[in-house]
Amino acid sequence: MGTPPAADRHEVIRVQGARENNLRDVSVEIPKRRLTVFTGVSGSGKSSLVFGTVAAESQRLINETYSAFVQGFMPTLARPDVDLLEGLTTAIVVDQSRLGGDARSTVGTVTDANAMLRIVFSRLGDPQIGPPGAYSANVPSVRASGAMTVEKRAAKATRVTYSRTGGMCPRCEGLGTVTDLALDQLFDDTKSLDEGALTIPGYQPGGWNHRLYAASGFVDPAKPIRDYTERERQDFLHHEPVRMRIAGITMTYEGLVERVRGSILGKDKESLQPHVRAFVDRAVTYQTCPECDGTRLAEGARSSRIRGLNIAEVSAMQVSDLASWLGELDEPSVAPLLAALRQTLDSFVEIGLGYLSLDRPSGTLSGGEAQRVKMIRQLGSSLTDVTYVFDEPTTGLHPHDIARMNDLLVRLRDKGNTVLVVEHKPETIAVADHVVDLGPGAGAAGGTVCFAGTVEGLLASGTVTGRHLGDRVGLKESVRTPTGRIEIRGAREHNLRDVDVDLPLGVLTVVTGVAGSGKSSLVHGCMPAEAGVIAVDQSPIRGSRRSNPATYTGLLEPVRKAFAKANGVKPALFSANSEGACPTCNGAGVIYTDLAMMAGVSTVCEDCEGKRFQPAVLEYHLGGKDISEVLALPVDEALAFFSAGEARTPAAATVLRRLADVGLGYLTVGQPLTTLSGGERQRLKLATHMAEEGGTYVLDEPTAGLHLADVAQLLGLLDRLVDSGTSVIVVEHHQAVVAHADWVVDLGPGAGHDGGRVVFEGTPAELVAAGTLTGQHLAAYLAR
Ligand code: ADP
Ligand code: ADP
Ligand code: ZN
Ligand code: ZN
Repeated sequence: MGTPPAADRHEVIRVQGARENNLRDVSVEIPKRRLTVFTGVSGSGKSSLVFGTVAAESQRLINETYSAFVQGFMPTLARPDVDLLEGLTTAIVVDQSRLGGDARSTVGTVTDANAMLRIVFSRLGDPQIGPPGAYSANVPSVRASGAMTVEKRAAKATRVTYSRTGGMCPRCEGLGTVTDLALDQLFDDTKSLDEGALTIPGYQPGGWNHRLYAASGFVDPAKPIRDYTERERQDFLHHEPVRMRIAGITMTYEGLVERVRGSILGKDKESLQPHVRAFVDRAVTYQTCPECDGTRLAEGARSSRIRGLNIAEVSAMQVSDLASWLGELDEPSVAPLLAALRQTLDSFVEIGLGYLSLDRPSGTLSGGEAQRVKMIRQLGSSLTDVTYVFDEPTTGLHPHDIARMNDLLVRLRDKGNTVLVVEHKPETIAVADHVVDLGPGAGAAGGTVCFAGTVEGLLASGTVTGRHLGDRVGLKESVRTPTGRIEIRGAREHNLRDVDVDLPLGVLTVVTGVAGSGKSSLVHGCMPAEAGVIAVDQSPIRGSRRSNPATYTGLLEPVRKAFAKANGVKPALFSANSEGACPTCNGAGVIYTDLAMMAGVSTVCEDCEGKRFQPAVLEYHLGGKDISEVLALPVDEALAFFSAGEARTPAAATVLRRLADVGLGYLTVGQPLTTLSGGERQRLKLATHMAEEGGTYVLDEPTAGLHLADVAQLLGLLDRLVDSGTSVIVVEHHQAVVAHADWVVDLGPGAGHDGGRVVFEGTPAELVAAGTLTGQHLAAYLAR
C-alpha cells in the first residue's frame, strides 16, 4: 500500500535500541506521512514505544527549544531510554485523558466554537450589548464585592479577569450552579451545644470551634437547637463576623453556615482529609442557579437574541441542529466567520459527535468522546508534517461509527502528517499503510517487534495478532434463561424517550447502539436503587498517587504482615503511605511538578531511586526479596512467589489469582494507578468485585484495550461470573461480545435526539433477523 522504501532516512522515523518499560532494545522504522497501526496484546509495549518513546522524545526536544530562562521553570524531562531516534517531527498526542475538570470548561470552550459564536452574537445579536466578552460566562460583569462565596473562591482559583464588560452571571459567578449546605449535616437539632449537637469534623465539645459557639453569648448552650428563638437561630447560623474574647483569647465569631463555607468548603476538596471530604460530600448540595437558570450568563447576555434565540439557548442545541440553524443565517457581513464556525460544527457531525451540545461540561465526556473532541481541534488546524498519536480512537464507537473514524485518520495522513495509532479493532487495522506488531506476550514476555509491514503481511506472519485477526465468535447454540428482571419504567435521563425496558437477571446482557444513543444514560442513570447494581467502569480511581494495584486490591495487607512476621518488625514499615516511606518523595517514588500551562510532569526521586522506601526498610527480606522488589513484580510472578516456598501467603495468592483471571497478569503490582489505561482500571475494579458473590454488575466496554486474542478469555470470565450467580450487563460494541450474549438491548436508532429509544430487545439470533443497524453489522460479522 505505497509504503516508501524504509531505507530512505528522510522518509522514516528511525527508532534504535528502545528500552522504556518492557521494551527489549527495540529497533524499528516508522514510515513518515503514512498511517501506522501498532498492535499486540495488552502489556506488550505498544504505549511504551509510541507514547513513552516517540512522543515523549518529541515533547522533550520541543521543551529544549525554549530559552534557558523559560526552561528554568520547566522540569527536566528524562530522556526516554533509547539509543537513537531520528526523523522525529512535532508529536501531538490525542489520547483519552479526560478534558479539564474545571466547571467552566465546556465542549464549546475547548473547541473554540464558543469564541466564534460570541463574535457572531456581538455582530448580529439584538439588542446589541457590546463586545464578544459581553456574551462570555467567564468574564465577570460586575466587580466582586462582599464576603467571598465558595463560587468566588473557585472563580479566583481559575484566574478570571475582572472587567465591567463580561457576561458572567453575578449570582453563581458563571458556574451555573450554587451550593447549599444541608443544615441537618451540620448539627443534630434535638441536642444542645453542650450535648454535642455539632456534627462537623473538628467541632467536638472541648475544641475551640465548639467553645466559640457555646460561649458566644448569642445562644443558650444548654438548649436544644430546635428550641432556639428566631433571633438565636439567626445569630447562630448567619451572624456577620464580630471579634470577641473567649477564655482570654480574641476570636472572630461568625454564623455557622458562613464559617463552615469559609473554613472547609473554600479549600481544595482533594487536599482535605478523607473524613472531612466525606462530610463535604454529605453536607453540600448543588442547585441550578436561580438567577440565570443554569445558563451561567448575566441578564444582558441572555436578553440579546438572533432569530429569537439567545446564546445560551443556541449553545444548548445539539450541534447537528446548531449547524442547520446557522446555515439559515444569511448575513453577508459575517459570512467568513459563519463559514469557519460551520466547518467546526460539521467536523463534530463527521466525527460522530453531532449529538453533543456546546454547553456540555467537558468533564462529563467519556474518554472516547474527549479524544474525538480533541481531534476536532486538530482537524481545523493547518499544520502539516506533524506526528499525530492516537490511543484506541475507536473506543466507544459502534461498528457503524468506526468507518467514519477511519476516514478522519486517513484525512489527517493525506494532509501530509504521520499518523500513529494504537488499536485492536480489525476494522481500523485494515486501513493501515503499515503495521508494527509488538509481543509476543505481555510485560517481560513481550517488548519485541514481532512483525512490521503491510496488513497482508501481518495476516501471513503467524504472530498472535496475525492469527487472531480473522477470529469470529459464533452465536451460541442456546441462551441462558433469566432468573428475574430489573424493570426500568419511564426513563427520561438525557435523551431517553420514556423508555420502558426489562433487563433480565442471571444472564449476560449486552446493551448496544451507536455512540450517543443513550446506553450510558440508561445503565448508569436509570437503574432502580433497589436493584443494587454495581458499576464497574473505566472512570479514574480516586486515591493518591501512591495508590497501586497492591494497595487498591488489599493485596498489600497480607504482604506487609508476611514481611513483618518474617522479620519480627511492625507491618506499618512496609507501607509506602506511612512510616517506611522515603521522606523526599513521601513514598511516591517520583517527584511531581504541576505546571500551569502544561500537563504535570514527574521525575524519578533521586533519594530512593524510585523505590519509595527508606533504605533501612529495604534491609528486611521475605523469600529473598525486599518490599520494593516485591512491588516491582508482575502479577503472574508475584502469584508464583506467594504460592509456594518461604514466601507462601495464601491470602496474597488469592487476590493475585483474581488479577490474573481478569487478564492483568502482566501488570506490575506496584505500578501507580495513575498510569493505568481505562480498560486496565476497569479490569482491576472487576477483580476486586470478584470477591463478592452474586449481585448485578454493569461493565462499560470491557474489551477496551483488549487484544483480539484476549477477547475469548474475557468471554470466559463473563461466563464464569454469570454461572456463579452474578448478573452481568455490558455496554459493548465488540461483535464477539454481542454474539456471545444471552440477551441484547439495542438503543437508537441514531444519536442524541435521534436516539433514546429501544429499537430491539431479544436474543442475538433474533437481532440478526430483525435487521436493525446493529443487527446488520452483526450479520455481516458472522458471515465474514
Ligand atoms: P501496551 O500499550 O501494549 O498495553 P505498555 O507499553 O503500556 O503496553 O506496557 C508494557 C509493559 O510496561 C507492561 O508490563 C506494563 O505493566 C509496563 N509499564 C507500562 N507503564 C509503566 C509505568 N509507568 N511504570 C512501570 N511499568 C509500566
Ligand atoms: P451512549 O452511552 O450511547 O454513547 P450517552 O448516554 O452517553 O450515549 O448519551 C446520550 C445522550 O445524552 C447524548 O445526546 C448525550 O449528549 C447526552 N448526555 C450524556 N451525558 C450527559 C451529561 N452528563 N450531560 C448532558 N447530556 C448528556
Ligand atoms: Zn447564575
Ligand atoms: Zn523517594
